[in-house]
Amino acid sequence: MPTESLTVSTSSRLEVLDVTDRVDAAVPEGATGTVTVFSTHTTAAVAINEAEGRLLADLEEFLSNLVVDGGWRHDEIDDNADAHLRASLIGPSETIPVVDGDLQLGTWQSILLVECDGPRSRTVLVATDE
Ligand code: ZN
Repeated sequence: MPTESLTVSTSSRLEVLDVTDRVDAAVPEGATGTVTVFSTHTTAAVAINEAEGRLLADLEEFLSNLVVDGGWRHDEIDDNADAHLRASLIGPSETIPVVDGDLQLGTWQSILLVECDGPRSRTVLVATDE
């Protein structure tokens, strides 16, 4: 299975980044099948939704409010339980159909990397199954 590794730099603790163009560029020319976009991290997730700026800010605020900071057992180890919990809600991957090398996303769908414990350098795998 052809697999490309993308390195994505994030700049905030909690941040939603549109990685659609980078995923699109990593899909082999002419491929037909499915592409799996996979975050190799426990505190960064992958989602599909609309990459409208105000909605991305809403998503960040929603995730921030959904999980309280502090007071979790894991915080005794490395003080980032909230990040693990937010990433767990979204999950590490999305699978997208591909036809002739084109991602079959809907008009308003974009591929989003959801950073929950940045800023960091993140690895996103793009695995094409033809
Ligand atoms: Zn941790």
